[in-house]
Amino acid sequence: SLVARSIENSQLYNLAITDGLTGLFIKRYFEDRLEDMVQQSLRYSLTFSLIYADIDHFKSINDEFGHVQGDSVIKKAAEIMLKEARDNIDMVARIGGEEFALLLPETSKEGAFSLANRLRELAESKLDSMSGLPRKVTMSFGVATFPDDAKSSKELIEKADRALYKSKQNGRNRVSVA
Ligand code: GH3
Ligand code: MG
Ligand code: MG
Repeated sequence: SLVARSIENSQLYNLAITDGLTGLFIKRYFEDRLEDMVQQSLRYSLTFSLIYADIDHFKSINDEFGHVQGDSVIKKAAEIMLKEARDNIDMVARIGGEEFALLLPETSKEGAFSLANRLRELAESKLDSMSGLPRKVTMSFGVATFPDDAKSSKELIEKADRALYKSKQNGRNRVSVA
């Protein structure tokens, strides 16, 4: 029963740190791991990158096709990102309704840009068919790298968020870097 309780505890823990719709990590857990990674990178002089991602014009998908269809798009977007992320190395989190973060250990800005662009292309080419949506849907991305762009986790988040905003401003379906 001790073993059973320990399994149950670890299952409860996994439930607590993951999002029900997508299975991705929740925002709070992501923020803790990001802070850990900042400390580790400072100590060992390592570089890592952060990608922020957001589905374009998502509100109109809900409005035109309903909330259930919207949920399906979010779920499949998460699947695309999980599949491209390195197992047990990268971390993918759902940090808002249709907003995601990817934490990429020992990854340069060039590496992160190239991953973000691959994700952008995959969303554009197959997120519609994957989720049964009768029209194209795209995503926008922002990339920031530690310690190149920021001295703290808070600043790094701001830089990734600002880069994402730039992608939105410049017409969406694109990747911008800090
Ligand atoms: P932009 O291209 O600028 O990102 O526009 P947008 O419409 O995607 O952005 P906005 O932030 O205006 O809309 C996001 C919408 O996502 C609003 C909210 O109702 C919806 N949403 C948030 N969480 C969920 C969810 O779990 N499921 C569904 N179906 N919709 C959600
Ligand atoms: Mg959006
Ligand atoms: Mg959004």
